[in-house]
Amino acid sequence: MKRRGQPIIPTIIISCLLLLLILLIYVYFGYHRYDYYGDDAPVPNVLHPVVEQKRSELVERAKEENIAIIITETIRSFERQNKLYDQGRTTAGDIVTYARGGESYHNYGLAIDFAIEDADGNLTWDIHYDGNGNHLPDWDEVVAIAKELGFEWGGDWDSFKDYPHLQMTFGLSIKQLQRGFRPKAETPE
Ligand SMILES: [Zn+2]
Repeated sequence: MKRRGQPIIPTIIISCLLLLLILLIYVYFGYHRYDYYGDDAPVPNVLHPVVEQKRSELVERAKEENIAIIITETIRSFERQNKLYDQGRTTAGDIVTYARGGESYHNYGLAIDFAIEDADGNLTWDIHYDGNGNHLPDWDEVVAIAKELGFEWGGDWDSFKDYPHLQMTFGLSIKQLQRGFRPKAETPE
């Protein structure tokens, strides 16, 4: 019996071509956003230039709202990350991180932590503090500016909320960073 319905073969060919096109677009944008170095990928020892610039903008824009912020942490070595991981587990203190060396965006120069300087000049991590007296917590104001600048906020995480933490992933997962992918230096966020 002859088939009179949809011609199957051309449909398959068109589907394959579409898939190929999607793959090419993916590879093209991936190639232009990231560098891939494999196992020998260098670990940066300074903040990514885009993160560095956005950090300055964040401090400036907070200042315009009469909020003084201090960046308490930027890039962190794998070694220091492991020491922090040990805290509260094999060494004294409270647990401060769930990331081992290489598992934090800090380790790749892609994250910063901030605190607020209160009226007495002391650092505070009080997320309800309203130093500029506009009836909004200063912390929320800083986070709103940070998000506008392209940062992700650790306070949005479901499991372990890290309120001082801001990061830019450039679409790269920790697994990809560990495998040797690095955001290009000139990548916009
Ligand atoms: Zn952090």
